[in-house]
Amino acid sequence: MYKLMCAGPTQVHDEVMKKRALPFTNPDLDPAFVDFYKETCDILSRLAHTKNQCLILNGEGIMGLEAACICLTEKDDNVLVLDNGVFGRGFADFVTMYGGNPTIFESDYREPFSLDEIRNHLEENKSKNYKYATMVHCDTPSGLINPVEKISILLKEYGILSVVDTVAGIFGEPIDMDKGKIDILCGGSQKALSAPPGLTMVWVSDDAWHAMESRRTPIAGFYLNLMMYRDYFEKKAFPYTMPASDIMGLRQAVEMVEQDEAILKRHEKMGEAVRAALKKCGIALYLKSGFSNTATAIELPTNIKPKDVLEKMMHDYDIIISGSLGPLEDRVIRIGHMGENARKDDLALTLDALQSTLSELGMNISGNLKMEFLENL
Ligand SMILES: *Cc1c(COP(=O)(O)O)cnc(C)c1O
Repeated sequence: MYKLMCAGPTQVHDEVMKKRALPFTNPDLDPAFVDFYKETCDILSRLAHTKNQCLILNGEGIMGLEAACICLTEKDDNVLVLDNGVFGRGFADFVTMYGGNPTIFESDYREPFSLDEIRNHLEENKSKNYKYATMVHCDTPSGLINPVEKISILLKEYGILSVVDTVAGIFGEPIDMDKGKIDILCGGSQKALSAPPGLTMVWVSDDAWHAMESRRTPIAGFYLNLMMYRDYFEKKAFPYTMPASDIMGLRQAVEMVEQDEAILKRHEKMGEAVRAALKKCGIALYLKSGFSNTATAIELPTNIKPKDVLEKMMHDYDIIISGSLGPLEDRVIRIGHMGENARKDDLALTLDALQSTLSELGMNISGNLKMEFLENL
């Protein structure tokens, strides 16, 4: 088995795997399962610092993003797509697919959005009456963290709803849905929560429910239609059979996060030490600023290909790290240090293997990555 040190799926704790192996009940016929599901959602709401309802949907992280777009978009709606990363830009496709008109607000992929620039854009484009705006908390292909709470508060001033992808942010980076006035927050099971891939969580504000309820046209979907879940608890009925084993595993992961009071501190410490070690050894980080504590993107010299690094790490060291996507695909590799990956021993092992791999591929490294990492902890 390979060690998963990629930017998701992350390593999964044995206790989570054990819960997935237990016998399960009929999620449709046993009301105790509905309670179990709701309790799990309630913990997730506490962890996102919100009174808003959370729903766990049967599908990988992307499904939550698509659900948000299908539920909010009507034909010809103007939607602001904030783009400083691959996932950020990707929202435009969902908006278009469901009949909306995306306006892409593009900014430097190497640093977080500037609030002033977004404010200027909103001032100049008042006539567009954006219905909602999309943005990414941690845009994973570059490991970039955006000030999504501040942006959402700004959008609210203009009456614009916010959809925030925090799939690779939440539980590794602080996020406060209520303080940030975020309308739909999307998370996933396989990043900092460290459960296997397969589930997505969406938290929905009253304003977002209201927008769905006051649509001119019905939501053209069933599986991704959040309205189908609106009264599941009162009715003791889900729109379709819930993946009981996945949710039992997720519940364990959620409880472990809730009990781990130092989780954000640990991410900060690990993220900082990884970055410090790379810098000290003369390895270039992709970003200028806005480094997420969940993943670090390394910009390789032009003579070394990400594919070769990944292959060597896998075959010689049994470790999987990530390449990147879109415009970064040919020059960036990433280490995921979120959730169960944010551990000293695993990261030391990974950096040691990376040092040997890069050296063998001809890169000159001025120091010892592992030692620097450990010294910076
Ligand atoms: C991982 C991730 C998702 C989920 O997408 P997959 O590529 O299918 O894993 C969505 N958004 C962000 C920012 C992610 O990091």
